Amino acid sequence: MAQSVPTGGEFLFREVGSTPLMCPERFTDEQRQYLETALRFSRNEVLPKTEQIEKKTPGLLRELLRKAGELGLLMIDIPEAYGGLGLEKTTSLLVAEAKSMNGSWSVTFGGHTCIGTLPIVWFGSPAQKAKFLPKLATAEWVGAYALTESGSGSDALGAKTTAVKSADGKFWILNGSKQFITNAAFADVFIVFAKVDGDKFTCFIVERSTPGLSIGPEEHKMGIRGSSTCPLILEDAKVPVENLLGEIGKGHKIAFNILNIGRLKLGVGVLGGMKLQLANAVAYAAERKQFGTSILKFGMIREKIARTAGLVYAVESMAYRTSGLIDARLHGLDPTAPDCDAKTIAAIEEFAVEASILKVFGSEALGQLVDEAVQIHGGYGYIEEYPVERAYRDARINRIFEGTNEINRMLLVGMLLKRSVKGTLPLFDFAQTVDDELTANALPKEVPTGPLSRAALAAGHLKRMAVYALKVAAETFGPELEKQQLVLANVADIVMDAFAVDSMVARTRQVAPSDPVRIAMTRQFTNVACARSLEAARRALCASAKGDALTSHLKKLALLSLYDPFNPVELVEVIAEAVERGGGYTLGG
Ligand SMILES: Cc1cc2nc3c(=O)[nH]c(=O)nc-3n(C[C@H](O)[C@H](O)[C@H](O)COP(=O)(O)OP(=O)(O)OC[C@H]3O[C@@H](n4cnc5c(N)ncnc54)[C@H](O)[C@@H]3O)c2cc1C
Repeated sequence: MAQSVPTGGEFLFREVGSTPLMCPERFTDEQRQYLETALRFSRNEVLPKTEQIEKKTPGLLRELLRKAGELGLLMIDIPEAYGGLGLEKTTSLLVAEAKSMNGSWSVTFGGHTCIGTLPIVWFGSPAQKAKFLPKLATAEWVGAYALTESGSGSDALGAKTTAVKSADGKFWILNGSKQFITNAAFADVFIVFAKVDGDKFTCFIVERSTPGLSIGPEEHKMGIRGSSTCPLILEDAKVPVENLLGEIGKGHKIAFNILNIGRLKLGVGVLGGMKLQLANAVAYAAERKQFGTSILKFGMIREKIARTAGLVYAVESMAYRTSGLIDARLHGLDPTAPDCDAKTIAAIEEFAVEASILKVFGSEALGQLVDEAVQIHGGYGYIEEYPVERAYRDARINRIFEGTNEINRMLLVGMLLKRSVKGTLPLFDFAQTVDDELTANALPKEVPTGPLSRAALAAGHLKRMAVYALKVAAETFGPELEKQQLVLANVADIVMDAFAVDSMVARTRQVAPSDPVRIAMTRQFTNVACARSLEAARRALCASAKGDALTSHLKKLALLSLYDPFNPVELVEVIAEAVERGGGYTLGG
C-alpha cells in the first residue's frame, strides 16, 4: 500500500490527478460525525462565549478544554493505550478546522492538543506516556510548548536556556526564560527546550509545580486576546531526570517534527475561520442596503465573495489531500508496534513541503479573506462591536508563529533542493526535461477534456516554471543559492500556486467534474495563479542571469504563459450566486 503512495513534493513531477485525492467529499461517516461534533461544540459552547473569552474570564478556557475533552476532541492523536482514540490524521485535521471559528480558542486548543501534547505522544517513554497522556487527553492537565526565547525566535536553536545535571544526579537544573508561551497562565505541563552542557539542544517535560518555575505577566496582544501568552521563567528549576524527553542533544528532532504537524494543523485550521467570516460577510452584505439595493448585489462585492470562496476551496483541496497522503502512508500501521511513533513521525515529515505550503498559503488566504470581509462591512467592519473586527486582528498571528512565512518559504524550497540532491525527488531531471521541451518548443498541448482542460495544462506549466527558475538559479549560484532569499521566495510562491491549482483541478475532476461552482473557482484561481507565477518566475530569472542568457531564459519562460479567456463577470456570478444561496461556502459534500 505504502509503495504506491506519492512521496512528499512529488506533486511537482506527477501528472495532475494521477492519484486519487482525499477531500471532504470523501470523508467517512465516522469522520463526518467527528466534524459535526466539533462544529457543534464550536457553535454551541465557544462562539456564544466569545466576549467572556476575549476578557480572559478566569477558568473559562480550561473549562472549555475540559468539555471538549469529554467529547473526545482532545484525544484524536493520543493512542488508545494511553486514554486516547488514535484516529487517523484526517480526523485530527478536520477537528482542527472546526475548532478554529474563534481565534483565541483555536490557539488555546492547538497549544494544548498539538504542540503541548504531541511531543510526549511521539517521543515519550512508556512511563512518560502513561503518566501524562491520559490526563492531557481529558484536559485534567493542560499542555504548553516553550521553544521561543527573547533572543531566539526564528533561530530557535540559538536558545540560551541551560540544563545542568544536579550533583546527586537526580535532577536537571534549568535556567533561562521562554517568551510568548501559549497557555502559560494555566498550563500544567510545559515542553521546554534547553541546552545541556552549553550546546546539546534537549527537550524536557516541566511540570508547573517544579520549584524554580514561574510565569511572567500576560502580553497585551493585537489579537487572540482571550488566549494566554506569557513568559516562562526558569531559575534553578529542578526537573526530575525522568522528565528528559527523547535524547540529550536530539531536541531539534522534537522541535522540528512538532513544527511540521503544527504547520499542517495551522494550514487546515484557518478554514474554520475563513468559512465563518465568509458566511458573516455574505449575511451582512445581504442585509445592508445602499443606493436602495442590498450591497450583495453589487459586482465588486460579489467579486470579493467569489474570489475568497475560491481561496477556501484551494486551501481545503490542498489540506485534505495532504492529510490523506499521510493517512495512506500510515495505513495498516500497528499502534502497538515499537516503531509506530517513528513511522508516524516519518510519514508527517515526508510531507513537510506540503505542510509549509499550507502554513503560508493558508495564513495568507485567511488574511485576504478577513481583509475583504472588513471591506464588505464598510465602516462597521472597523468597529469592535462587529465580529469581523476581531477576526481581522486575530488572523494576523498566523503569518508569524509556527515558523514565520518568510522562514517557511525558504524551508519549502530548501527541502525540495535537499531531496533532489539526496536523489529522492527527480527535481533536476525534470528541470532538464522542461529545458529541452522549451528549447524545442515542444510543450504538452491542451487536451480538450472539458472545462478544466486549460487549468490542467496550467498546473503542468506552473510546475515547469518553478523547476526551470530553480534550475537556472542553482546553475548560477550553486551552494550559495540558499542565501538568495528573493529567488527562493519567488520560487516558493510558484510552487504554492502549482500545488493549489493541481489540487483544485484533481479534486474537481475526481468528485464533481461537471459542477459549475467548483469549475468556476478553479478557473478563476488558475488565471490569477498563472499571471502572478509568471511574474515571480521572471523576477527569479532576472535575479539569476543577465545579458543574452537572460534574454534566452525569458523567451523560454514566455512559452509557459497561459490564459483562460473566460468572462470574469459570468464566472464570478456562478460562484457568488452559490455562496449567496448557501449562506456561505457549502462545498465539501
Ligand atoms: C501570540 C503568540 C503566541 C506564541 N506562542 C508560542 C508558543 O506557544 N511557544 C513558542 O515556543 N513560541 C510561541 N510564539 C513565538 C513565535 O513562534 C515567534 O514569535 C516566531 O517564531 C517568530 O520569532 P520572533 O518573534 O523572534 O521573530 P524573529 O525571528 O526576530 O523575526 C522577525 C522578522 O525577521 C524575519 N526573519 C527572521 N529570520 C530570517 C531569515 N533567516 N531570513 C529572512 N527573514 C528572517 C522573520 O520572518 C520576521 O519577519 C508565539 C508568538 C506569539 C506572538
